[in-house]
Amino acid sequence: MVEITKAPAGFEGPGFFATSLDKAVGMARKNSLWPLPFATSCCGIEFMATMGAHYDLARFGSERMSFSPRQADLLMVMGTIAKKMGPVLRQVYEQMAEPRWVLSVGACASSGGIFDTYSVLQGIDRIIPVDVYVPGCPPRPEQILDGVLKIQELVQNESLRRRDSEEYKNMLASYGIS
Ligand code: SF4
Repeated sequence: MVEITKAPAGFEGPGFFATSLDKAVGMARKNSLWPLPFATSCCGIEFMATMGAHYDLARFGSERMSFSPRQADLLMVMGTIAKKMGPVLRQVYEQMAEPRWVLSVGACASSGGIFDTYSVLQGIDRIIPVDVYVPGCPPRPEQILDGVLKIQELVQNESLRRRDSEEYKNMLASYGIS
């Protein structure tokens, strides 16, 4: 059954409904995330299950996968990221337009996982900022869905001014991203 999303908080009366721009934009963004799946290994298979009919990511308005960074606003990193692949991941992130969010799925993407070796990046947050981490090796599709719900929460409540703030710019600068 298709459920219509709830209206944001506001004032309602006969024939009118008023809310703030922040809340209206937050509601629209939250329910129309376009994910870019950056899947390199086994966690990617769990993501495929998340997209299937049983778990059905489409219920959250996120069924439109974007394989072009320029049309994506949610980067989902799933799998082991070798250090050699780091610059590619970073380039993909830099090509995404603001506002953009990052979901790190599984132990490998979040911390290198079991691969504590010279060749594996020990967490993607060493090269790009991460908004939500999903634990597990591999995380179940329910956990990935939970991660997407957490991202939706952030998206809905984000102030429209956040991306222009000094704190945000400083945070990007700390990653060497301008
Ligand atoms: S966290 Fe586990 S399941 Fe996911 S990519 Fe790493 S080894 Fe594979």
